[in-house]
Amino acid sequence: MSEPELLKNFIDGRWTPAAGAGHVDVYNPARGVVIARTPLSSASDVDAAVRAATAAYPAWSETPPAVRARTMFAFKARLEEQFEALARLITTEHGKTLDESRGSLRRAIECVEVACGGPSLLMGYGLENIATEIDCIVMRQPLGVCAAIAPFNFPAMVPLWFLPFAVVCGNTFVLKPSEQVPLSQRRMFELLETCGLPPGVVNLVNGGREVVEAICDHPGIRAVSFVGSTPVAKTVYQRATHAGKRVQALGGAKNFIVVMPDADLERAMPIIGESFYGCAGERCLAGSVLLPVGPTHEEVRDRMVALAEGLTVGDGLEPGTAMGPVISARHRERVLGYVERGVAEGATLVADGRRRTLPDEGFFVGPTVFDGVSPSMSIGREEIFGPVATVSPVRNLDEAFRVMEAHPNANATSIFTSSGKAAREFAHRATASMVGVNIGVAAPMAYFPFGGARDSFFGDLKVHGRDAFEFYTDKKVTISRWF
Ligand code: NAD
Repeated sequence: MSEPELLKNFIDGRWTPAAGAGHVDVYNPARGVVIARTPLSSASDVDAAVRAATAAYPAWSETPPAVRARTMFAFKARLEEQFEALARLITTEHGKTLDESRGSLRRAIECVEVACGGPSLLMGYGLENIATEIDCIVMRQPLGVCAAIAPFNFPAMVPLWFLPFAVVCGNTFVLKPSEQVPLSQRRMFELLETCGLPPGVVNLVNGGREVVEAICDHPGIRAVSFVGSTPVAKTVYQRATHAGKRVQALGGAKNFIVVMPDADLERAMPIIGESFYGCAGERCLAGSVLLPVGPTHEEVRDRMVALAEGLTVGDGLEPGTAMGPVISARHRERVLGYVERGVAEGATLVADGRRRTLPDEGFFVGPTVFDGVSPSMSIGREEIFGPVATVSPVRNLDEAFRVMEAHPNANATSIFTSSGKAAREFAHRATASMVGVNIGVAAPMAYFPFGGARDSFFGDLKVHGRDAFEFYTDKKVTISRWF
């Protein structure tokens, strides 16, 4: 059998072998087989990419915004042409179902579409006669070389939260994909090669921690975007801001879903089930803790168990699969470790995914439900990032708020209710930055800002929407008088 391919970096318009030694195996998690190898690039690879991006910057930043945007119109066309092939690739390297891959790719393309509107969104503003015959204008100018570091869970979408906006704003760009899912990003760069971008405008450096640290420290990089777990997000934020960069670092989550006694459970529960078990629970917006209020507890719990037990688990490429595997053998062990801890800590295991008959190959975890979970238990407190739902009954909305607001993460939260008053109060009081009302996954579209609060987000400006144009530009004020 031939060796799996060792991937290359894309630097200065060329596919280049990494200078760093070592690699990480890339798996098809539904089959448990190695399908490629990610090189562990070194700081010198990052330096080569930054030098290429620095050299490309003067001409690119002077290129008219409409011409820059045209490259993203071309990229959108390529992504549409390759839509099905890319969706299959995402499922193959990540494990999510084909429909989930299609959905995430659609969200990714929407980012490209919004970035295509860059010429309008980049406009500044001005005022005549701020004093006699003195005028003032504000212009947005690009920053320079910008970098982004991606997590494993949305291989195509998360990089496109950044790349199209950075490039249309006139910056040059370095991307580090997750070493676990590099293939769809490699494919996207092959498509970008055909879109009229000069060499060095977009660069791809594969790898792990060493690449991230080199990005944080490199004096040639002006801004860093990070998406991943909270401890790494916090470290990247501190290290890169210490090096003088503009930083937005999106971290982990523990998302609460409140179900009021007046909720329409017939309609709500399938949506809630999808929130917890979609993408095998590997979504930063996934439901994690279910807070049924008052008398609704038992019915919510029983319906959740029925949903978990009714899910078809398998290869995401197979028609009819509702939930795929988790990303790796190591992550499966981590998730199963939480199930064991939940039992040891005294929670009631009401749907035991370990008893499910699952495919022999691959990294599958059966959908699981715990009841009677308190916030002090590790399963009630920590991000599991797998198909494990915890149910923590509360007496009223105030108690739900006490539980939610005591948690360090505040990414997303949802309420299910038929009361406008309760919904309004919930949206007003919740400190999570993304709030759903009868919505299971409160994911803002590309023209709205995306990002959490407290330990789910470090920085000021959020991702995509108008915030992207703020993040990727500096505002220059010119005050003029003519004699
Ligand atoms: P991760 O933190 O392990 O890795 C993210 C990136 O950081 C990867 O590119 C990885 O190579 C790098 N990295 C890992 N460990 C590092 C270290 N010690 N030092 C420097 N770099 C390091 O996250 P993941 O497992 O790939 O992704 C899952 C996490 O991402 C979850 O916590 C999830 O909630 C979070 N996430 C958050 C959002 C959001 O919008 N807030 C979106 C997607 C994922």
